[in-house]
Amino acid sequence: MVNASVVLAKCTSTSKLFGIRVQENENGWFPTWAFPINESAARREGYDQSTITVTLSPTPEYPGCPHCKASKFWKCSKCGKVVCLDWRGVAMSLTCAYCGEVISLVPGTNAARMDVSNSAM
Ligand SMILES: [Zn+2]
Ligand SMILES: [Zn+2]
Repeated sequence: MVNASVVLAKCTSTSKLFGIRVQENENGWFPTWAFPINESAARREGYDQSTITVTLSPTPEYPGCPHCKASKFWKCSKCGKVVCLDWRGVAMSLTCAYCGEVISLVPGTNAARMDVSNSAM
C-alpha cells in the first residue's frame, strides 16, 4: 500500500491554491505531483490535521506548481504555510502569498526538509 497525503500550498505568482501530493518511502515523504485545487474543494476533502516532514527536493516526476511551473516550494517561517518557489540557488526574496512576509533566501540555505501541516489553508 502506498502512503500518500496532500499538502496545500499557494502559488507565489498567482495566489492560487494548489495541492502537493506527497508519498512516503523508506527515506521519508517526497513530493510527487501537484494539481490545482480551489478552496471549497480543499475544505470538502477535509485533509487531515497531521503534520508531516516533507523533503524539499522534488522527485523527478514532480511537475512543479500547476499555476506558474515553479519547481520548488517553501514553508513560510512566519505563518507556516507553503508557497511555490522558483529558486535557482541565488540570493533572492520571496513574498509569502498567505501573510505577505518577505522571506530571504541565500545560497546554501539549508532546507532539505520541512514540517508542514497538510491542512494549512
Ligand atoms: Zn506557482
Ligand atoms: Zn506566510
